[in-house]
Amino acid sequence: MLTQFNFRAFFLLLFSALMANAQTKKPNVIVIMSDDHAYQAISAYGSKLISTPNIDRIAKDGMLMKEAAVTNSVCSPSRAVLLTGKYSHMNGMKDNGTYFNGAQETLPKIYRANGYRTAIVGKWHLFSTPTGFDYWNILPDQGNYYNPKFKKDGKDTVYTGYVTDVITDMALDWIGKTKDKAPFFLMLHHKAPHRNVMPPLKYLDKFNDRQFKLPSNFYDDYAGRKALQIQQVTMKDHLDIRYDSKIPCDTCPINPINNWAPAEYQREIERLTPAERQVWDAAFLKEYELFKTLKTKDEIVRFQFQRYMEDYLRVVNSLDDNIGRVLRYLDENHLSENTIVVYMSDQGFYLGEHGLYDKRFMYTESFRTPMMIRYPEGFKGNQKTGAYVLNLDMAPTLLDLSGIAVPNDMQGQSMKTLLTTGKDESWRKEIYYHYYEKSFGLTRHYGIKTKRYKLIHFYDPVNSWELYDLKKDPKEMHNVYDEPKYASLIAELKEKLRALQIKYKDTEGLKIK
Ligand code: CA
Repeated sequence: MLTQFNFRAFFLLLFSALMANAQTKKPNVIVIMSDDHAYQAISAYGSKLISTPNIDRIAKDGMLMKEAAVTNSVCSPSRAVLLTGKYSHMNGMKDNGTYFNGAQETLPKIYRANGYRTAIVGKWHLFSTPTGFDYWNILPDQGNYYNPKFKKDGKDTVYTGYVTDVITDMALDWIGKTKDKAPFFLMLHHKAPHRNVMPPLKYLDKFNDRQFKLPSNFYDDYAGRKALQIQQVTMKDHLDIRYDSKIPCDTCPINPINNWAPAEYQREIERLTPAERQVWDAAFLKEYELFKTLKTKDEIVRFQFQRYMEDYLRVVNSLDDNIGRVLRYLDENHLSENTIVVYMSDQGFYLGEHGLYDKRFMYTESFRTPMMIRYPEGFKGNQKTGAYVLNLDMAPTLLDLSGIAVPNDMQGQSMKTLLTTGKDESWRKEIYYHYYEKSFGLTRHYGIKTKRYKLIHFYDPVNSWELYDLKKDPKEMHNVYDEPKYASLIAELKEKLRALQIKYKDTEGLKIK
């Protein structure tokens, strides 16, 4: 009897010790970031275009941010914001043509200093050598979709397979080697579904049975919006028939805006093995036959839209599959409860809204970004918030959830209260945005979004203001800046905008007239 009693006491003691350990154990962190993934193509956001059960699971197990936005809607700057918790004018990465200064304080460096093992796999796109990571294996620049080359410790290695699968393999391999040694912080950064969207061969027939409808404002005439009038990122005029639509048309005209595109496309498909290339050619030969029957410009535009959507969704489908692999791995290795998993894109993306296929603008589709977080041990699931959270907030949020002090100079706000209680009365009511890059005919601009209005100042090369009443005009089709009845509202919004520029120390923005 005595032996049996001791046996029970021993296990009770062991159990309570394990519980105490679980409660004090630092969470692991995985930030899954995709590139150019539109919330319009995620079923958790109500998409009818595609079902994304694995991405949706992150929201279901945690919180979905319905109104998450970025501070500067383009690839490299957004990544720098995630790493630093600071606006572009503070971290120095204003556009894709800058080198990230790796000497500054970053999220992985802070985690590392707090006993974490840190890694980044996949897309880096900050041009300088990664700092703060125990392990990194990154795509050079934009990288390739097929049999991609990676860069590790200055050495190039070509991997066999499809980029999204390869990045996930690397991530799981690293977690496997790390999980029993220390808490880990992993940035799992996908190239998908960045242009030019090249699907995995196994999905080349997927979505062929679907006919995608043009968004209602596809043929936006850009009246009253000067910056939109000069941009060069419309589906009807700027997609390349080879690069974007994958049609092997040697006689098709070369668009001066994208004159690099046919050669770039050729280089990408030449990465396929001869057997893979056969599968590819057979699939797109069918599309070429269809293309040859098209007569009018409108027919070609609709064809290119359809082709874009099919390939985009095929790439997103594979992204979702691979996110499922990560979640299953966490389940199977008993890491699910104590691991924070974030899913976000580096920004939103236009899928034909305003006739566009790109990002950059402060209009809704590229300003908003998908964002969701799960951490079963930290907060409950099935939550949704309309709070104005930003990519700027991710660094302080993760540190706070991990019990690590947030540096005072980070400009984002921790979402911990929002995640653990479902609300935060102190949350920002307005968002400040500043975009700098002039490629593809874009104009630099900054602006403010409040619950009802959006005020944007385009300043280089176009100089003009735009105001939208988002309640009356959610698609941002009518610039009402010049309507006299809005004069006092505009003055008020300009005051708020100035206050935000002062708050976030955008001294350069403050000087712009
Ligand atoms: Ca991007």
